[in-house]
Amino acid sequence: TPLLETDNVTYTYPNGPAALAGVSVRIEAGSKTAIVGPNGAGKSTLLLMLNGMLRPESGEIRFSGRPLAYDNRSLRELRRRVGFVFQNPDVQIIAPTVEADVAFGPVNLGHPPDAVRQAVHDALGYVGLRGYEKRPPHRLSGGEKKRVAIAGILAMEPSVLVFDEPTNTLDPASSEEVMELLDELASGGRTVLVSTHDVELAYRWADSIVLMEQGSVLARGPPEEIFSDH
Ligand code: ADP
Ligand code: ADP
Repeated sequence: TPLLETDNVTYTYPNGPAALAGVSVRIEAGSKTAIVGPNGAGKSTLLLMLNGMLRPESGEIRFSGRPLAYDNRSLRELRRRVGFVFQNPDVQIIAPTVEADVAFGPVNLGHPPDAVRQAVHDALGYVGLRGYEKRPPHRLSGGEKKRVAIAGILAMEPSVLVFDEPTNTLDPASSEEVMELLDELASGGRTVLVSTHDVELAYRWADSIVLMEQGSVLARGPPEEIFSDH
């Protein structure tokens, strides 16, 4: 069974168009998947569904073959396993220091102080921000903030990492760094999903593509198949 699966999922925002009009996708464990499509295709809506931030109107989402449940306890567990990195790191960074921000997730999960310290240390090492512990995150560059946000998610040790437009607000050098980081995350056995309107990036990075437009899936498959005219 795929790690994550959506089955004919629909969603409409209040007073909005059908953001998802029956979307079925399968995300294999350990894969690097890119959800590709123009603005408004429904990419973010789909990703928000995968960690329970939005609930399908109809259809079903399964994690390890089990339908998602939406009681608080199940949602907490889902969000620990499926980490979500927002497009804009400013919405995710909340604490006065890098260290406190990255600690937020594990503290919230009720981990003891020693385990929190270790998780923060490991996560900051992973994203290359050791030595930044006491710095105020709002003073960092866009690329650094992004890495703080990623560290905060990593500190909760999710098996799936979801990135909404990971490079959208970054300069080319920071984008390259972030995509390399996503490669490392995937080669460490994690499942990594990104949404992007950048076909070039998807082609180079992903091993599996979901092509979306107007709330529907147009095609699914390996990049060389989906972008055969590349
Ligand atoms: P993408 O991530 O591919 O740009 P979204 O999932 O953000 O697409 O949006 C899908 C559709 O839902 C678009 O038509 C968008 O305008 C609409 N939409 C997204 N968020 C909201 C919202 N909070 N309220 C109303 N409509 C929304
Ligand atoms: P709930 O138990 O209602 O699911 P949580 O306690 O898990 O809520 O999280 C509360 C909010 O804080 C959520 O919107 C979540 O996305 C956000 N959040 C969780 N971890 C972090 C973090 N490390 N940094 C910033 N925001 C976070």
